[in-house]
Amino acid sequence: MQPATERLLVVSAHAADFVWRAGGAIALYSSRGHRVRVLCLSYGERGESQGLWKKEGMTHDLVKRTRHDEATRAAEVLGAEIRCFDAGDYPLNVTNDLIDALVQEFRSFQPTAVLTHSSFDPYNSDHTEASRLTMNTRVYAQAMGYPSDHKHLGAPPLFYFEPHQSEMCGFKPDVILDITPVFETKIEAMHCMEAQVHLWNYYTDTAKRRGTQGGRNSGNPEIVYAEAFQRVYPQVTNILK
Ligand SMILES: [Zn+2]
Repeated sequence: MQPATERLLVVSAHAADFVWRAGGAIALYSSRGHRVRVLCLSYGERGESQGLWKKEGMTHDLVKRTRHDEATRAAEVLGAEIRCFDAGDYPLNVTNDLIDALVQEFRSFQPTAVLTHSSFDPYNSDHTEASRLTMNTRVYAQAMGYPSDHKHLGAPPLFYFEPHQSEMCGFKPDVILDITPVFETKIEAMHCMEAQVHLWNYYTDTAKRRGTQGGRNSGNPEIVYAEAFQRVYPQVTNILK
């Protein structure tokens, strides 16, 4: 078993994005003893809480509280730390304070890998904003002149996690991560998201499809479930594999 020195940072626009798209990666890292930190920029109270708005007497505050509880429970199941920013959705409100908070997160956590949304999502501009914010703040955190009590950031690889409709977002699955050993944990985390029950099966099917691709591309028939990611920067290596 490799030593527990990895630190995975996951930036999620809304309360549940990190669960559908990276829950397996998170569970895999935490099961190996690595630290995982989720930054949840907003609760998705306007745009991604359909199940709650169908209930009588619902309010924005109650939706946010419910989604906060769901995201917290899901992170706990997956073995991750979570910080919620409540920056609003539709639109996601990217303020200078939010930018600085993310830079300080990069600086203090010093991730060894970063996951976030694809750079373009025609169905949800908050996802596009979250992607741009993550990419920008990662770069700001690398700048030695940026004011901070923490050391500047190195060059952790950045990956996009899989969007809801990949083809429409120009997503290319160039990394397939085998999540078979932790898939039951991902299911349990997805079931915390009662405001979006309609997505439970969708993301189970996605994991099966990516699992089949994983087996086909590796020759390993034991891969049943997988998550797909796209690299933003080149892989640096001294062996081609
Ligand atoms: Zn979202």
